[in-house]
Amino acid sequence: MSHAQILVGEPDSVRAFAQVLAKGINCIHSSNREDPCGQCISCRVFETGNHPDTFYVTKTKQNSIGVDDVRDQIIEPMSTKPFGYNYKVFIIDKAETLTPAAQSALLKTIEEPAPYGFFLFLAPSAHNFLPTILSRCYLRKVYGKVNKKNTELQVLAREIADTAHNLDIIDAFALYRKFEPYKESKETLLELLDSIYYAYGEKISNSSKAGHMPAEEWLNAVSAVAHTKDVLSKNGNTQLAIELMLVKLTGKG
Ligand SMILES: [Zn+2]
Repeated sequence: MSHAQILVGEPDSVRAFAQVLAKGINCIHSSNREDPCGQCISCRVFETGNHPDTFYVTKTKQNSIGVDDVRDQIIEPMSTKPFGYNYKVFIIDKAETLTPAAQSALLKTIEEPAPYGFFLFLAPSAHNFLPTILSRCYLRKVYGKVNKKNTELQVLAREIADTAHNLDIIDAFALYRKFEPYKESKETLLELLDSIYYAYGEKISNSSKAGHMPAEEWLNAVSAVAHTKDVLSKNGNTQLAIELMLVKLTGKG
């Protein structure tokens, strides 16, 4: 399990999942961090809401989490060992409000963490993170409930991320047909674009974890998908926007 994770999704589901993980990371009995025992001293202390090694990072002024917040609430506490358990777990809620400067200030801490550090960044989407942060974190989409539609969208998203780069432009236009069943619901379409975004994000974080530079085509793909989401949110022409995106994903546009 990666020591730095970006958990994205609907805020309540993401918060609930972060609580499970934070508890599981310091659980003494369970080896599965997503399934804390609930019985050990760490789990019981966690449930009181006063776990000494769980840190909730919040903004102290303005509307964003700034450099000072990051320094006082993460970097500084990271300089000392945990108080009584194995890990210091930092939960950064509303991480989409981290300023770029605050994210840069965190880079070194995330890149060369002390062995007792765990960082959970919670956000509705991954769009506001710097690529340098994204490439060092495990990106994880949290689903409230797994349903048939979500599964379908994820399968299609993976297929696109795995194959688009090998297509020529004609095939890219043909691929638009796969979007047609969803084109009546903008919400579904945006979810599909999100899933495509995460499918590429997964490739980027996997290659970083393996010690490689992420392929440029994936970085380009992520920005093409983000741009398309913007266009659709502003009521642009759906078919045109998606076809253009598919052409960009082939890398030949
Ligand atoms: Zn436990």
